[in-house]
Amino acid sequence: MPSPIGHALGGLLVHAVSAGRAELWNRKRASLLGGLGAAPDLDLLLRYLDGSHHHRAEGHSLGAAIAVGVGTWLAARLGRSARPTALGVAAGCAWLTHVVLDVLGSDSNPPYGVMALWPFSRRYFISPIPLFPDIGRTLTLATVWQNAAAAAWETAVLFPILLAVVCWRERRS
Ligand SMILES: [Zn+2]
Repeated sequence: MPSPIGHALGGLLVHAVSAGRAELWNRKRASLLGGLGAAPDLDLLLRYLDGSHHHRAEGHSLGAAIAVGVGTWLAARLGRSARPTALGVAAGCAWLTHVVLDVLGSDSNPPYGVMALWPFSRRYFISPIPLFPDIGRTLTLATVWQNAAAAAWETAVLFPILLAVVCWRERRS
């Protein structure tokens, strides 16, 4: 499964695709969507609340992405932000990039994959051919090197796509 770097790039990609003309270089919007791309892994912390495993479960799903989109839309409306619907849709899509990237990643911890279609299904989904290596959760030197290599690979795959989209958006504006 990708690192926070790969996931943030996924969220930034949604920002670049969905930004309005004046929003492409809006740091607040880019930070929000980049952060939402990485945020689903915060479910790792939920086990400190009840001792149960929640990682890659309901929070890594289409249902969670819809909830985040609706929540963002509501907050944007209440805060009288410009284009609240576009921001809500972008927020949900940024969350969804995390789910898709995790499905495309290798996983060495059961249950393998993510509960991508919750609440419609509790099945875990994972690609038979992983595009991204797994991220280790220990602090050994070997794991640090493995994670650095994984993050470099994610950047090599995702950053050129982000750059191409930004250049394309710049040319159109
Ligand atoms: Zn994840």
